[in-house]
Amino acid sequence: MSAPNKSYDPVEVAALAPEALDAARDAALAAIAAAADLEELKEARLAHQGDRSPLALANREIGALPPHAKADAGKRIGAARGAVGQALKVRQEELEAERDARVLVEETVDVTLPWDRAPRGARHPLTTMAERMSDVFVSMGFEIAEGPEIEAEWFNFDALNFPPDHPARAMQDTFFVESEDSGMVLRTHTSPVQIRALLERELPVYVVAPGTTFRTDELDATHSPVFHQLEGLAVDEGLTMADLKGAISAFVNGLFGDPLPVRLRPSFFPFTEPSAEVDMQCFVCHGASVGNTEEPCRTCSSEGWIEIGGCGMVNPRVLIAAGIDPERYSGWAFGLGVERTLMFRHGVADMHDMVEGDVRFTLPFGMEI
Ligand SMILES: [Zn+2]
Repeated sequence: MSAPNKSYDPVEVAALAPEALDAARDAALAAIAAAADLEELKEARLAHQGDRSPLALANREIGALPPHAKADAGKRIGAARGAVGQALKVRQEELEAERDARVLVEETVDVTLPWDRAPRGARHPLTTMAERMSDVFVSMGFEIAEGPEIEAEWFNFDALNFPPDHPARAMQDTFFVESEDSGMVLRTHTSPVQIRALLERELPVYVVAPGTTFRTDELDATHSPVFHQLEGLAVDEGLTMADLKGAISAFVNGLFGDPLPVRLRPSFFPFTEPSAEVDMQCFVCHGASVGNTEEPCRTCSSEGWIEIGGCGMVNPRVLIAAGIDPERYSGWAFGLGVERTLMFRHGVADMHDMVEGDVRFTLPFGMEI
């Protein structure tokens, strides 16, 4: 810094000469304009606005000026520093905007890139089929009901009007827990959920119960010791077999998207009276394969009809077992096989495919999670 000097002419101080200030300002503006990124701008800021920058050094010279010259010199330095400050601000904003735009592009996630080559699990087709079947009834206003897989014999047999000597109770059909006298079985059907629903709920009752069931069958092409059913139960005043047939027709329509005819064939179950087997018209050949050796149908074995389950009017003894007055209330029930539905709806030929866990079987059904 120069020493104070009364006769000092600011223009004679080299650093304060207008040309020097203009040059320092222009050099700063050029460096700021040339800064290609925020890092370079930071360097330009240090060089041209920092304590050791030409304009800062020139500013210090003002202190050595006589009072009358200070204002003039200060004005010119102020203008130059203001121009530099403004240019820095503008360039800073420009470069930040450029950086933000670049980050948006560079950090974009390419959703088409493979990201996880480990195959993800999905629900088994039997699970999704049971859900799809249930959904048709839920859309009609039915609720989902559940019961335990280890069930008391009373729920599984007695309350459903199976007499004590009924052959279904024998060891060759039923898995008993611990011993045949334990009173506990692996449920042989989803029908005990009927009793539980009637005991737990207020009338009227409209429920479906999808669930796992167990019988002592050997695993073969059409049998499995573990299988799945969809139970349905409606108990209300004035229900008839016509309502039952209508509900099953609506189910067939809902599952196949086609109002296929449904027929009932007389049958027998202890817990329904009268009882019937339910057939639906073949959704592939619509019955055209019957007697037609030219075009046989694999889906229905050229019979024109496909058996989908059993049904009937709830036996009054079952209503009484659940504490319901059979003079006032009537009901109907049905049981549909989930494996069987998956088999004929999707052309699955062998039960083994459904239980052996080979993903080559399950993958074509999609990855519903
Ligand atoms: Zn057919």
